[in-house]
Amino acid sequence: MSDRSLSRRDLLEAAALAGAASLLPAPAEAKDAPAPAAPGWVLVTSANGVEAAKTARQALIQGKDPLDAAIAGVNVVELDPDDVTVGYGGIPNEEGVVELDAAVMDGRTMRAGAVGALTGVKTPSKVARLVMDRTDRVFLVGAGARKFATAHGFADEDLLTPKTRKIWLYWREKLTDLDDWIEAADEAKDPDVKWFLQKYGAEIFRPQGTIHMSVRTASSDLVSVTTTSGLFFKIPGRVGDSPVVGAGLYAENGVGAAGSTGRGEANLVTCGSHSVVEFLRQGLSPEEACLAALKRISEKTHLVPRHRDAKGRPRFNVNFYCVDARGRTGGAAIWSGNKHVVADLDGVRTVDSAYLYKRGS
Ligand code: ASP
Repeated sequence: MSDRSLSRRDLLEAAALAGAASLLPAPAEAKDAPAPAAPGWVLVTSANGVEAAKTARQALIQGKDPLDAAIAGVNVVELDPDDVTVGYGGIPNEEGVVELDAAVMDGRTMRAGAVGALTGVKTPSKVARLVMDRTDRVFLVGAGARKFATAHGFADEDLLTPKTRKIWLYWREKLTDLDDWIEAADEAKDPDVKWFLQKYGAEIFRPQGTIHMSVRTASSDLVSVTTTSGLFFKIPGRVGDSPVVGAGLYAENGVGAAGSTGRGEANLVTCGSHSVVEFLRQGLSPEEACLAALKRISEKTHLVPRHRDAKGRPRFNVNFYCVDARGRTGGAAIWSGNKHVVADLDGVRTVDSAYLYKRGS
């Protein structure tokens, strides 16, 4: 069956999906929901952003610019060799090369900067900021992004760690028996390879990861940053949603800021983060806005049979994170079991994300 042909079964699955989606709150109800505004600054970030939130929080307490604070926050994760989903030590592409995507957006000025498939820079969010500040353009990719980073003094560093090199090599050797790569007898017992297999071997979705952070200041300014090494073992040159304004992040003063992690392709074709902010504009709360954008992804997934399960639900996950101009935060995912992180003057806390579907249901 081709991707586009719709059988009777497909149509029945569509009906089931529509039923599940209708469990979501209707926009009219959502508009009436009471929600207090946060008086001070607040930030929302992905579940891997606890340390990033602590750093950004300190910077905000010291009165630093919110975009500088957010970038300083995500730099902690970009530089962490143990986070294999972002920056230095990220899982490489299928050829063993680490290609990084990052973007920043400033809701005060509606300016943005982004880099895609950038090599050799541990902190691509800093280069994205330079694209915004030091060019009249928004998005640089590949060799051009690399040349721009070099022009601004970024050395060309090896982003593979001993751990990710071993993981990539094992993946490459196990890929197929029809090539020249052979696995060593005890390779799967290597602690790094074992760690990878234990952490990601049972994942039902293709492994990937990212950090997003959005900040709303006490004066209601909104900024966002998203940075990632993207899909594990991706095709060289593949760029996901993370550095694409409107998909991986979006910030607009007066309305809100949002960002994403998860299957980038699903988010790219639905302009997810922009949708979240548009739903805020229509009066939904941050959590409702995230759920509404996820519902749209779920509905559109129905058009591609290989991406949906027997009940018509996505066979992948996407998370959205959001803060509105009043300082209310929210996070939601397609599937249950996800969390996000919120920080304000009271501290840093990890919060359960709302969801469309319960895992295992
Ligand atoms: N959204 C990222 C990408 O598609 C990956 C992720 O967040 O898990 O590259």
